[in-house]
Amino acid sequence: MNEEKKPQGSAPDNNIRTLHTERIKGVDVMVNRDIEKMMAAEQTDTKDRVRAVDAPEVKNEKKQANGNAEGGQAHRRGRKPAARPNNTEQNSEVKDSTERRPRKTKKVIINANLNDDQVSPSQSFIANPLASSQNRYRQVSQVKSGKGGEYRLKVIPLGGLGEVGKNMTVIQYGEDIIVVDGGLAFPEDGMFGIDLVIPDYSYLVEHRNNVLGFCLTHAHEDHIGGLPYVLKDIQAPVYGSTLTLGLLKGKLVENKVNADLRQVAPREEVEIGPFKVEFFRLTHSIPDSMGMAVHTPVGTILIVSDFKMDMSPIDGKFMDFGRISALGEKGVLLLLSDSTNVEKEGFSESERTVGYSFEKIFYSAKGRIIVTSFASHVHRVQQVLWAAERTNRKVAVVGRGMQNMVAISGPLGYLDIPPNILIDIDKINSLPAEKVVVITTGSQGEPLSGLTRMASGAHRQVQILPGDTVVISATPIPGNERTVAKTVDNLFRLGANVIHERSAGIHVSGHACKEELKMLLNMVKPRFFMPIHGEYRMLYKHALLAQQLGMPEENTFILENGQILELSRRHCRINGSVASGIVLIDGLGVGDVGNTVLKDRRLFSESGVIVLSLIYTKQKKPRIIAGPEIYSRGFIFEKEYEHIIGEMKEKAVALCTPEKLADGNIHDLRNQMRNTL
Ligand SMILES: [Zn+2]
Ligand SMILES: [Zn+2]
Repeated sequence: MNEEKKPQGSAPDNNIRTLHTERIKGVDVMVNRDIEKMMAAEQTDTKDRVRAVDAPEVKNEKKQANGNAEGGQAHRRGRKPAARPNNTEQNSEVKDSTERRPRKTKKVIINANLNDDQVSPSQSFIANPLASSQNRYRQVSQVKSGKGGEYRLKVIPLGGLGEVGKNMTVIQYGEDIIVVDGGLAFPEDGMFGIDLVIPDYSYLVEHRNNVLGFCLTHAHEDHIGGLPYVLKDIQAPVYGSTLTLGLLKGKLVENKVNADLRQVAPREEVEIGPFKVEFFRLTHSIPDSMGMAVHTPVGTILIVSDFKMDMSPIDGKFMDFGRISALGEKGVLLLLSDSTNVEKEGFSESERTVGYSFEKIFYSAKGRIIVTSFASHVHRVQQVLWAAERTNRKVAVVGRGMQNMVAISGPLGYLDIPPNILIDIDKINSLPAEKVVVITTGSQGEPLSGLTRMASGAHRQVQILPGDTVVISATPIPGNERTVAKTVDNLFRLGANVIHERSAGIHVSGHACKEELKMLLNMVKPRFFMPIHGEYRMLYKHALLAQQLGMPEENTFILENGQILELSRRHCRINGSVASGIVLIDGLGVGDVGNTVLKDRRLFSESGVIVLSLIYTKQKKPRIIAGPEIYSRGFIFEKEYEHIIGEMKEKAVALCTPEKLADGNIHDLRNQMRNTL
């Protein structure tokens, strides 16, 4: 971290940006990252550390500021800061006699230009984060876990854990509920005929009168795609950023759903029942992404869902490091953070690097260029538009998803569309090949998407020609690799040059890698940590990462969908679960395809079906009146194997003895026939 020299005695607030912040054993310490001073850390201030352990976590903000200033000055004058009695609690919700006694608070501020003798106990945390710090955190935890309080705050993930998709998290205080996101997932192999999967939200339906609002992080399908279905059953205001609500509105209109959409801006706070929800800006692969701090009477929950730390974002709007650090400084009870890329070392690359690659490709391509990416990737489409403008090409937008996105983001100001650059798809053949760019959907090899149809020669307006350059600006989602590879093969077969390799620099992830996740944990320093947005191993590794940074293992919680995380001001535990699972969406039907239907579809996928029908009477003279007829599908080719069908009919007739028909036990007869045939 670069540090600027600050004049001695400047106000602590001015120093916050340039200093690394630690919260250890209740002591708020701002320290200079200076390796030499770390060495001396162990020997100094041990007594103060022990005394400071008891400092209450939640303090009156004003007093905290005073404490900072006084403590800081005292330290700079070379004496220990006076211990301040402080029994002011922000909230008297918890009636715990042990919390009322006066306690000592210690504040130390160390200025950027420290003298050599000014060292902090927490510096050894930096020197060897994997060893000594862990023990210290554990001591803190043991001391603090002696106090209780009611578990009035609950966090219940209904989706998004153990998977990447259908994110939905319930935050409940007493009876009051807010819901963070409502996403969808795409069907897995074996979910035949299923279009979409959304979380089982029966818990919300049961408590529909207590649902006070939905708070949205961003407009990706795995965060808002389920809402058109959920909002049919649950009426509550939906809070989100301009673009998020803009894109959601399109989906709601399509599904004929009315909802009360309420726009919020970063750094805006809304009061929803007992919750104060404060939004702050994040950077991700879609503009207008926000995290949120949910302030509750028990403490603050910080939700940092999909994010990356993009230091040169396309729209110039940076992640709100300042606010996140400030919230961490005040004290965060629980952090929920994105685990998608926890397995990737280092830092994620900036979205801007993709633009440079685009320009290189656009300059050198002799023929038409066809680019595909996720329709929701506004920044990516933006960079295609800019690269096209710089290389004097016109752009045609193909595919409903992509056209919708451009139509919504353009007028809202999220897409800078250079004048006269867009052309109708029907016009591309009237322009020279080197003047044309086509943007389309199909980066995942989806069967009906633009690119897939072009690759199979089935697209009405765009035929792939030798000399075309196709840029696949996305990586296949796990499970889609085969279909994407097939599309790439088909494109090569048609004579196109396909650029799809990772090494080509045409795609970067929108999720934070390991070092960024560490940075967030260090900024927030939450008391408890719950990894979200990831398959189980990702959640596990993210929890491990937090532990490596010094968080006690017992303060990290890996949940399954439906489990209840309960919190008091001091404690956190997993306690019980609510109904969770999936709701399958098949065409317009929501939930009408259940497990039984899916099981049948699975059976049909593996074996054929034979239907035998006959009409009989059991009156007077029991006999077959008509049939038997046999119909089969996926069994044998009936025309060639008529003798087998004939044989089956004979066996069926033989089973229908007058005694059995008179008996009238159709169930038994049916079973016997099934077994015989
Ligand atoms: Zn997501
Ligand atoms: Zn996302």
